[in-house]
Amino acid sequence: MPDNFINITALNDFLFCPYSIYLHNAFMDMDEDIFVAAPQVKGKAAHKEIDSRTFSKNENDVQSLKVFSNELGLMGVIDLYRKDEKHLVELKNKVGGSLFLGQKVQLWAQYYCLTEMGYQVERISIYEKSKGVFHNVKIPDSEDRSTLENLIMKFREFDFSQQMEINTKKCTHCIYCNLCHFTDCDNVYNAD
Ligand code: SF4
Repeated sequence: MPDNFINITALNDFLFCPYSIYLHNAFMDMDEDIFVAAPQVKGKAAHKEIDSRTFSKNENDVQSLKVFSNELGLMGVIDLYRKDEKHLVELKNKVGGSLFLGQKVQLWAQYYCLTEMGYQVERISIYEKSKGVFHNVKIPDSEDRSTLENLIMKFREFDFSQQMEINTKKCTHCIYCNLCHFTDCDNVYNAD
């Protein structure tokens, strides 16, 4: 696998804020209790069964599968692929309201990895574990593919020395808020 493959989860982080990727890498070895917020803790707990491949007992369900796309230069891990339904599933503990572009982009990227690897995919969805509900996402069309390709290009070309646009609303929902020199605001999770 070439070194320059992008991890699919980083695309979502990039859409949220490019600097969060830098902070994620800079502090990844640090004790997570220092900055991981309540939603991430709940999300990780919800993921445990997927990571240990014990979420489903159905032998037609493939759990925690490594995927990649040579065409797009992407790699990642999908949560669940239901062979009998040709159904790609991303697990989230909670989905607040309508889906973000970042969440859709992650699924589109996983879809293209899987299909390039020879899997058939006819349905993609996010499974909201706390409610036991599937949120269907449209199979990506050529316009969605272009959106994904443009995002990958922007990711590869991003220059951290350029002026960053700071959105304080995002900062208050960013787990790295207290470690980031672009803001002195606090995040909303410290009250949890
Ligand atoms: S605190 Fe704000 S500027 Fe800093 S990484 Fe988070 S979202 Fe980006």
